[in-house]
Amino acid sequence: MHSNDTICAVSTPPGVGGIAIIRVSGPMTFEYCDRYFSKNIEAQDANTIIFGEWREGKRVIDEVLISKFIGPASFTGEDVVEISVHGSRYIQAETLRTLIEAGCRSAGPGEFTQRAFLNNKMDLSQAEAVADLIATESLTAHRLAMQQMKGTFSSEINDLRQQLIDFASLIELELDFSEEDVEFADRDQFRTLINLILKRVNELSESFKLGNVLKNGVPVAIIGAPNSGKSTLLNALLKEQRAIVSDIPGTTRDAIEDTVNLGGVTFRFIDTAGLRVTEDIIENKGIDIAKKKAADASIILKIMDASQELMEAEGRLFGNYFDSVDWEDDERTVTIYNKIDQVQEQQIPDDVIGISALKETGLSNLKEKLIDMVDLGTRSSGDVIISNARHYEVLSKVGQALNDVNTGLDQGLSGDLMAIDIRKALHYLGELTGAITTEDLLGNIFSRFCIGK
Ligand code: GDP
Repeated sequence: MHSNDTICAVSTPPGVGGIAIIRVSGPMTFEYCDRYFSKNIEAQDANTIIFGEWREGKRVIDEVLISKFIGPASFTGEDVVEISVHGSRYIQAETLRTLIEAGCRSAGPGEFTQRAFLNNKMDLSQAEAVADLIATESLTAHRLAMQQMKGTFSSEINDLRQQLIDFASLIELELDFSEEDVEFADRDQFRTLINLILKRVNELSESFKLGNVLKNGVPVAIIGAPNSGKSTLLNALLKEQRAIVSDIPGTTRDAIEDTVNLGGVTFRFIDTAGLRVTEDIIENKGIDIAKKKAADASIILKIMDASQELMEAEGRLFGNYFDSVDWEDDERTVTIYNKIDQVQEQQIPDDVIGISALKETGLSNLKEKLIDMVDLGTRSSGDVIISNARHYEVLSKVGQALNDVNTGLDQGLSGDLMAIDIRKALHYLGELTGAITTEDLLGNIFSRFCIGK
């Protein structure tokens, strides 16, 4: 499938840089560019870089480098030129203007990647991974996007889908012989396959929780009494003064969030309002937010002031406010004694981490603990991790359809009725990898890209 128009856009971020890259893709790419370039691009070999002038008549707009790719061996699968110009906004705009005057169209969001998909250069989940890859800000998020870009996940889904198609065609064949009451599709084998796919679909769905968290940051709620040092700890971790540190109890009213990269994992730290009984309406609101944040967080840092009566503080505050959470057994909770610089003789239990947020001691133990907690999750959830919300949604639909097939099998449903649920499952499996696409689906995915991608 080839587009008949030629598109262009600046592919580097908006603004001024050392250089900017303008991408051109489509059947007229070389011809349009040759109207302005001082050398003949058409005559050059593929995958070469050519130095020359970009000029309009006698006026030189810039000295540029042209990278030439001949389709289908290019990102989009079409003829592509990447023009490296000097980074001035004026030069970028002028180069684009000349291209559009030649006949190019301004590319829409994600249009280059969409063309790559339509020309079978990548499947849909790989195209989505390009968006993720561009957005990655941590080692783990990068690893997830790379894994998805290699297509590990979609090749597996395609394989399962093919097996299901084979069975579906046997069942559809039975429909042609409905008079004779034959069964071409062995029901036991069929059930085994359905359960195999269901198991995989469920594993992938479950991996989304981790995948999403790794992509967007592991939510860590910092919970504790007023003045226990929550803001100070957050600041120490952030190494910059974002949260307000003060001596007046109850000043942190909203949840303050920020991300920190530790050992290649992004953590999203959430500082919450101090927990205490209060008449202050706004502060009570903050406490409600704190409770909610703690309930949603992957990790809870329970911070206590080591210079105060520990046991009393713990019982009073945590017991009262978080009765829904079993603090002692909750795997998500890390107990921290803060302000250990203020106690003479420290008696810190083994399962508690002693720190001084102010003096920044003990923080490396805490960081190690946090990284360990995420690692456990990564190892137990298998190889492929889903981090894309669309995939997660479609997987649930696949699961629903397959469960319906199973129910049908249990009830000895006739082939024609079962075929409907099977087709539904096949449809959603196809939507996952892009074997089946609709205008809406494509529009939805590619509109989230930026122009030039
Ligand atoms: P929050 O209400 O829990 O957020 O507590 P803050 O972070 O605002 O800290 C309350 C007070 O305790 C501030 O005056 C901090 O400087 C002090 N503080 C926090 N951590 C430590 C620590 O490790 N040692 C000492 N000595 N003081 C601390």
